[in-house]
Amino acid sequence: MKLKFIKKQKEAKDTATFFFEPEKKVMWLPGQYFYFTLPELKYPDSRGPTRHFTISASPTEGSTLRLTTRIRKDSGYKNTLNEMAIGTFIEGEGPNGTYILDENEEGNHILLAGGIGITPFRSFIKYNIDKKLSETKIHLIYANSTPEEITFREELESWDKTYENIKIAFTISRPEDSKEKWTGLTGRIDGDIISRLASHLSPPTYWVCGPPAMVEATEKVLGSLKITSDRVRSEKFTGY
Ligand SMILES: Cc1cc2nc3c(=O)[nH]c(=O)nc-3n(C[C@H](O)[C@H](O)[C@H](O)COP(=O)(O)OP(=O)(O)OC[C@H]3O[C@@H](n4cnc5c(N)ncnc54)[C@H](O)[C@@H]3O)c2cc1C
Repeated sequence: MKLKFIKKQKEAKDTATFFFEPEKKVMWLPGQYFYFTLPELKYPDSRGPTRHFTISASPTEGSTLRLTTRIRKDSGYKNTLNEMAIGTFIEGEGPNGTYILDENEEGNHILLAGGIGITPFRSFIKYNIDKKLSETKIHLIYANSTPEEITFREELESWDKTYENIKIAFTISRPEDSKEKWTGLTGRIDGDIISRLASHLSPPTYWVCGPPAMVEATEKVLGSLKITSDRVRSEKFTGY
């Protein structure tokens, strides 16, 4: 289906959300992804003109599709996307994927995100808020190297303050690389952080999303806390 590029919004260091208006109404569930194919590559890219990205918007926010990504200089695809003119048409295919928050499933949720792995969780949390599912508690633990890389920071902080059932904690692994004096949690997501922030929500579902190495390390941490695999749902952002 044709998607019209209508807006770009900065979210964090080298990170932006791209908004696309679909030619016809599309439905998706929180956590699903689309394939996005650019009409031509301004810069060469050995992986070609197509990537898959999670829709970072909740379906409750209207039918505009949003993808959020980090722009690295090595990616011809992303640099082409970043310089694309408003009004350009690209090709979209979806929705795809089974990493979905099902509002009919009972229980609370612990979301463990690394870097750009926040995208499905933004959709999950916004969906919970808009649908007023206040009985369902959601705790997000979001890991980044520096505070500058915390994507959707203002929005996440305001949700944490506004909604009783939403709790959000950031942890920073390289505070020394930041201009901001970081006084919050430090280090990667480990057993101690999970136990301290989330263990009273029993028995929650644990959702893990991020680059493959982060997901594998976090699954090991959950294993060491004796959390059985049927309570863990992971999505690896391959390509990183
Ligand atoms: C289901 C699914 C959903 C996805 N959703 C998203 C999404 O919402 N947003 C998103 O940005 N991506 C998402 N991805 C990943 C996306 O599809 C791309 O593969 C990814 O962004 C890499 O894009 P790129 O090839 O342009 O590489 P670049 O991002 O430019 O990276 C180029 C190369 O640099 C290296 N590299 C980059 N970052 C790192 C790092 N942190 N650690 C180690 N090496 C690194 C890698 O070798 C990589 O191939 C998703 C993937 C899957 C499977």
